[in-house]
Amino acid sequence: MSGILVIAEQRRGELRPISLELLSAAQGLRHDGDLVAVAVLSDSPQRFISPLSLSGVDEIVTVKTAAAEFDPDTFESAVGALIAKRAPDVVLVAHSVDSFGYAAALAARLGLGFATDVFDARRVDGELIATRGGYGQKVNVEVDFPGRSTVLLAIRGNVFKPQESPGTPNVTAFDAPAVQSRAAGREFIELSAGDDVDMTAAEFILTVGRGIGEEAKVPQFRELADAVGATLGCSRPIADAGWLPKSRQVGQSGKTASACKLYIAMGVSGAIQHLAGMKHVSTIVAVNTDAEASIFGVAKYGIVGDIFEIAEQLRTHFE
Ligand SMILES: Cc1cc2nc3c(=O)[nH]c(=O)nc-3n(C[C@H](O)[C@H](O)[C@H](O)COP(=O)(O)OP(=O)(O)OC[C@H]3O[C@@H](n4cnc5c(N)ncnc54)[C@H](O)[C@@H]3O)c2cc1C
Repeated sequence: MSGILVIAEQRRGELRPISLELLSAAQGLRHDGDLVAVAVLSDSPQRFISPLSLSGVDEIVTVKTAAAEFDPDTFESAVGALIAKRAPDVVLVAHSVDSFGYAAALAARLGLGFATDVFDARRVDGELIATRGGYGQKVNVEVDFPGRSTVLLAIRGNVFKPQESPGTPNVTAFDAPAVQSRAAGREFIELSAGDDVDMTAAEFILTVGRGIGEEAKVPQFRELADAVGATLGCSRPIADAGWLPKSRQVGQSGKTASACKLYIAMGVSGAIQHLAGMKHVSTIVAVNTDAEASIFGVAKYGIVGDIFEIAEQLRTHFE
C-alpha cells in the first residue's frame, strides 16, 4: 500500500490545532490518487472522529491506547505497527514535544527517511522534497530521501493553513500491540501563558523592531496599536530584551502571523527569520529609515522615514 499517514495529536481530550495543519500539508503531497489516512491514539479515540471528519481525509484510524495522554513507548510501538501494516509513502507528525519522544527512534528502527522541523514539503517529478532550516536557521536546506520507501516528516506548527471544511471519511480501528511503557505520567502541569495574546489569530498586526531604540518607547506604540485596532507584535530583539513578552514575537522562533491580513512593520529590518513569520501576509506596510532594508522586499507599501514621525501622524489621525 502507499499513501499518506498523518498522526494526529491530542492533549487532555482536545485535538491540537497542529493536527489540522498536518492534514493540510498532506493534501499538498498527494500524488497518483494517494489516500490520506489520519490515525488518532487515545484511550477514547472515538471522540476525535467528528473533529477529524474533514475534506481530504479518506480514512480515520482509531487506535485505542491504555494511557489517556501521550506516552513515547506506546506511540513508537503503535505508529511503528501502523507503518509496518500500511507501508505509507509518507508519515506526517507534528514537530512537537510529543514527536521528540518517539519519531527519531522510530525512523532509526524502521530505516525511514526522516526530517524534523519541516516547513515546506512537496513532490518534484514524484520525488519528495522537504525544506527545513540549517546552520542555526540561517539557511533553508532542501532534503530528499533517495531509496527510502517511507519518509517520516515532523512538520513545524503554524505554517500550514489548517484543514477545516467538513468531509465524510471511512473510520477503521487498529489494534495496537500491547506495550510495557517505561514512562508514567504523574501530574499534568499547565504552563502559564504569561500573556494572553494569540498572534496566530490576529488579523491586523503592528510590529515594532529594534528601530524603537529603547524600552521607554514601547508604550507609545502600544497606544498606537490600540488606537488603530491592531495587535502589537515585535521582532526577536525586542522580546529577547524583555521589552515585550515572547508570545508577541513574530518569526521563525516566534509566532507565525497565520490569520493576518494587514501587517505594519515599524523599525524592523526584515531578517529572514522575521520574514518567516509574516512574509505571506497579503498587505505589508513597512516603515524604515533605511531605503535598502530587506523588509521593503516583501512590503506592498513602503515608507522610507522615521517611525516616531509616522507613528505621531497616525496617532493624530485616529484621535
Ligand atoms: C535561529 C534564529 C531564530 C530567529 N528567530 C527570529 C524570530 O522569530 N523573529 C525575529 O524577529 N528575529 C529572529 N531572529 C533574529 C533575526 O536574525 C534578526 O536579528 C532580527 O529579526 C532583527 O530584528 P529587528 O529587525 O528588530 O532589528 P534590526 O535588524 O537591528 O533592524 C532595526 C531596523 O530599524 C531601522 N530603524 C532604526 N531606527 C529607525 C527609526 N527611527 N525609524 C525607522 N526605522 C528605524 C533600521 O534601519 C533597521 O533596519 C532569529 C535569529 C536566529 C539566528
